Amino acid sequence: MKKITFILTFLLSFGLFAQTTFIHCGKLFDSKTGKIKNEQTIIVNGDKIETVKKGYISPPDGVKAIDLKNKTVYPGFIDMHVHIEGESNPSKYLDRYQLNPADVAYDAALYAKRTLMAGFTTVRDMGGSGVNLALRDAIKAGKTAGPRIFTAGKSLASTGGHGDPTNGNKESLQGDPGPKDGVVNSPEDARKAVRQRYKNGADWIKITATGGVLSVAKSGENPQFTSEEIAAITSTAKDYGMQVAAHAHGDEGMYRAVLNGVKTIEHGTLISERTMKLMIEKNAFLVATISAGKFVAEKAKIPGFYPPIIVPKAIKIGAQIQQTFANAYKMGVPIAFGTDSGVSLHGDNGREFGYMVEVGMPESEAIQSATIVNAMVLERENELGQIAPGFFADIVASEDNALDNIRTLENITFVMKNGVVFKQ
Ligand SMILES: [Zn+2]
Repeated sequence: MKKITFILTFLLSFGLFAQTTFIHCGKLFDSKTGKIKNEQTIIVNGDKIETVKKGYISPPDGVKAIDLKNKTVYPGFIDMHVHIEGESNPSKYLDRYQLNPADVAYDAALYAKRTLMAGFTTVRDMGGSGVNLALRDAIKAGKTAGPRIFTAGKSLASTGGHGDPTNGNKESLQGDPGPKDGVVNSPEDARKAVRQRYKNGADWIKITATGGVLSVAKSGENPQFTSEEIAAITSTAKDYGMQVAAHAHGDEGMYRAVLNGVKTIEHGTLISERTMKLMIEKNAFLVATISAGKFVAEKAKIPGFYPPIIVPKAIKIGAQIQQTFANAYKMGVPIAFGTDSGVSLHGDNGREFGYMVEVGMPESEAIQSATIVNAMVLERENELGQIAPGFFADIVASEDNALDNIRTLENITFVMKNGVVFKQ
C-alpha cells in the first residue's frame, strides 16, 4: 500500500487563513517551455502561487518548507474527459435501475478522491446524471476532496442515440425523453436542452455526435445529429458562455460537429484527412482517450463483461484509437489530454501519458497537453496549468523525471491543490 497522508485543511481551502509555504523542488517542469529547471523554490500563499525563485530559499521562522528536492514537480494535471459518477463493470447496465442519486454520490466522491490522488487537480466531466454538478460544488466548498470540476451535467443525444438514457430498455420503460433529459430531435429542442443545462448549472455542453461503444445500440459510428441541430446547440451555448464538446467515432458526425463550431472532438476514432484539416483550420482539439480504447478492447475479450451487442464495437473501435491519435498528432491536429476515466478506471488517468508517448508524442508535449494546453481549452489559461505567480497552487510531483521515464506519472507521490497538501 502506498503511504497516503490526507491533510484535509478545509478552512484553508476557503482561504480564511492565508498560509505561506515554501516548496523546494529538485526539478521543476516549466509547462510554458516544456523544459526542466533545477533547484527551484515555489512560494505558495493561501491558494495561489506567490512566486518561483531560483535555488533553495530558506523560509522565515514559523513558515513551513516542503522538501521535494529528490522529486520532479509539475503543475497539477488536467484531464479533459472523465465521467466522475461511475466506472465500468459487468453490472453497470443494471445500475440505473438499482442506484439512487445518493448511491451515485458516494461512488462519485470516491472516484473524485482517487483522481486527485493520481495528480489530476482539475477535470472536465463529460456527462452523468446531474450528481456531477453537486459534487463539483461540494468539492469547491471544501466538503469533500477531489479535483476542480468543469462539468457538462447531462449530455445531449438524439432519440436512440449514444446518450439516450432509455436505450436498450423494454418498450414500457422507454418513455419519451426530451430536451430536459438530454434528448433532442430538432434545432428547437436543441436550444431548449442547452438552456436547461444552463439552468442546471453546467459549465460545458456535451453532445454525442455519433454512435458510441458502450450504449446498447447497433452502430458505434453513425451520425446522430443534423448540422442544423449542432448549429443550434453551438450558437445557443455561445449565448450562455459555454463551449461544446462532441463525442464522435464516425467521420461524418465528426465533420458536421467541427464545421458547426464544436471546440473538442472526443475519441475521433475513424477521423478522415478532411476532418483533420478542418480541425487544424478551426483550432478544434482532439481528446483522444486512448486509455478508454485500450480498456474496452481488453475487457471485450472477457465473456459477459459487456452485453453481446457491445462486443464487436469495443473490439473494432477500441483497437483503433491509439493509431488515430498517432495519425492526428503527425498531421498537426491540436491535441488536448483526456482519458475517458469512468470507462477506464479512475486513478489510472496517468497511463494516458505513456500511451501518447508510445506512438510518437515527445514526453514534454504530452505533459504540456495535460497542463498549459488544457488550461487554454478550458479558457482558464491565466490561473491553471502553470507554476507561476498568480496561478492556483496546484502542484504535483513524481519520483523520476518524466522526460526520461514517462511512466513515473502513473505513480504521483505529492499532490497539492489550491495550496492544500492532499498527498505527501
Ligand atoms: Zn466519455
